[in-house]
Parts: sequence; structure tokens; C-alpha cells
Amino acid sequence: MRILVTGGAGFIGSEFVRQRLGADATARITVFDKLTYSGVEANLTSVAGHSGYAFVRGDICDAEAVDRVMPGHDVVVHFAAESHVDRSIAGAGPFVTTNVLGTQVLLDAARTHGVGRFVHISTDEVYGSISEGSWTEEWPLAPNSPYAASKAAADLLALAYHRTHGMDVVVTRCSNNYGPHQFPEKVIPLFVSNLMDGRKVPLYGDGGNVREWLHVSDHCRGIDLAMRRGRAGEVYHIGGGTELTNKELTGVLLEAAGLGWDMVEPVEDRKGHDLRYSIDTGKIGEELGYAPQVTFEDGIKATIDWYRENRAWWEPLRAKAAPRK
Ligand code: NAD
Repeated sequence: MRILVTGGAGFIGSEFVRQRLGADATARITVFDKLTYSGVEANLTSVAGHSGYAFVRGDICDAEAVDRVMPGHDVVVHFAAESHVDRSIAGAGPFVTTNVLGTQVLLDAARTHGVGRFVHISTDEVYGSISEGSWTEEWPLAPNSPYAASKAAADLLALAYHRTHGMDVVVTRCSNNYGPHQFPEKVIPLFVSNLMDGRKVPLYGDGGNVREWLHVSDHCRGIDLAMRRGRAGEVYHIGGGTELTNKELTGVLLEAAGLGWDMVEPVEDRKGHDLRYSIDTGKIGEELGYAPQVTFEDGIKATIDWYRENRAWWEPLRAKAAPRK
């Protein structure tokens, strides 16, 4: 199986590539990535010598470049996106361009070149916010941030190509990811790296917003299952099962750093901040046998250790991070 991975130099895409190539000497993967501020080619250094690996720098919105790279692939796994909610609040343009237009360009090229399967990686944020209970895959989409709205549009386009053209499309929607190689503007690496440098951490509002945490390696195992055995035209949730308020998460990170609440700086809440996300993961568990393998306790410890040991990775990136107010 020859896989085209868009956004493979980013946090989750690079984990997927390392995991697949690490597990299979015969695997063949082409990474197609524009290397935006969050794309780091060094995330792929460990697989650069694998005989099945190729890297092509390019923009998913560039139809000619996509048309050149697509032929010969059996599957597209589409991670490439503008992915940071705060940036989408500051300016939605790049989100609509990359996440919506870019997805359409890829879908058209995959269709033209007869690619067997298109796996579209999405987010639980497309459902909006839920105060109790959990969303199932049939839940209506009600995104609140421009980021989530652009992802919802892309999901619907992908599913429309299945219904209209009979394309083999699978959509995955996951909860908040954490793990190594995450760009240091997202909450866990931002807080961990700030605390390592004795800087305060900016906590939005009262810290009461609830997120469910998924280790990136579990996410990629779930994507692999959906890619191989998911049913065409279906949506699959991938979750990690640990719900925490942002305040509880901050407490975990402070304790690991041996620091106290005086290191927390409350900042004005994010505009339109969703209170809680929660996905029901019964479908992928029952149909494909997915279950997360990494407990939050083990995963967060390993993640903090990774940031401690890889200052040279995150320090230069911090200058490019979006500021929190
Ligand atoms: P990331 O920002 O770390 O990586 C995005 C990658 O896409 C980068 O390598 C970047 O260079 C590339 N890219 C951006 N625009 C491009 C373009 N026009 N053409 C080609 N490449 C381009 O993001 P991530 O956290 O790894 O997220 C990957 C996917 O997972 C996204 O689709 C995101 O919406 C989704 N997702 C992420 C999370 C999370 O917690 N991080 C949760 C749910 C869903």
C-alpha cells in the first residue's frame, strides 16, 4: 500500500509516518507538506533513511503540485491544516483556504487519479460544545470557532464526494491530542516549556473548560485501523478517555514541575470558548477493535520528559508561536 500523507511534518502526521514506517519495513509513504510555521521536517529525521519514505514540499491548495504528487498512491491520509483555534480567531482567511479549498483540491486529484481511499482527519470541535453526555458520529455539526467551522466544511465536502461520486472516503474525528513534537503554542507544550524556563502560564478564564485527552500514538493507531478496515462513507471517533478541566490539567503540569499556583497568570477567556467536548468512541471500539493503550498518567509523564530532553527542538519554534493575550 502506497500512502500519501498530507501535513506529515506536523505533530500528528509525523507520528503517523514514524509509527507506520517503524512498524513495517515494506511500507511506502510520501509526505506532502508545505512546511508552514508548524511543519518541522526534522520531525521525520528518524525515518529519512527508510527505503519506502519520500518527502515532497508542496501546498495542498496548489492543484498542479497536488496533481503531480498524487499518481501511484493507493490511499491519501489528509492531516494538512491550519490547526490553532486562537490563530483562526485572529484571522480566518488561511483556515478557509487551507482547510476547505485545500481539501477540495485533494479530493478532486484523488478522484481523477483513482486513489482507492481518502482518509480525512478531523476534530471533535466540529460538534460545538456539549455540557453533558457525549456526541455520537451522527450528531449534527455546530462549530463555534472559525477553525472548527473550516474543519466542518471540509468534513462535509469529503462525505459529499462519497455520496456524489462514490469515492471511498473515511472521516475520523478525535479529541485533544498530546505527546512529543507538538508545536509549543498548544496548551500542554506551551505550559511545560514555560514552566521549564520559570515563566508563568496563561490560563484562560476560570480554567473550567473541559477537554478530553488522547495520546497522539493512540490517535495514529486509531487512524491506521480506520484506514485499513473502516467502512467507506463512515465517520469514526477516536478518543483517549481522560477528561480534565484546564485547571486540573494545569495542576498536573505544575506538580510535575514542582511549582505552585503563583506560576499561573489568569488571562481573559478565549472568544466563544467551547465549554466541553466529549465524544462517544463505541463505534470504532466495536467495529474495529480500537482501545487507547496509553494512560494519561504515563503519557503525560513521557511527554514532559520528551520536552525536557528536547529543548533544541522546541526553543527555536517558540518564537513563531501565537501569543496568548
Ligand atoms: P500541525 O499544525 O502540527 O501540523 C499541520 C501540518 O500541515 C504542518 O506540517 C504544516 O506544514 C502542514 N500544512 C499546513 N498547511 C498546508 C498546506 N496548505 N499544504 C501542505 N501542508 C500544509 O497540526 P496537527 O496538530 O498535527 O493536526 C493535524 C490534523 O489533525 C489537522 O487536520 C487538525 O485539524 C487535526 N486535529 C488535531 C487535533 C490536535 O489536538 N492537535 C485534534 C483534532 C484534530
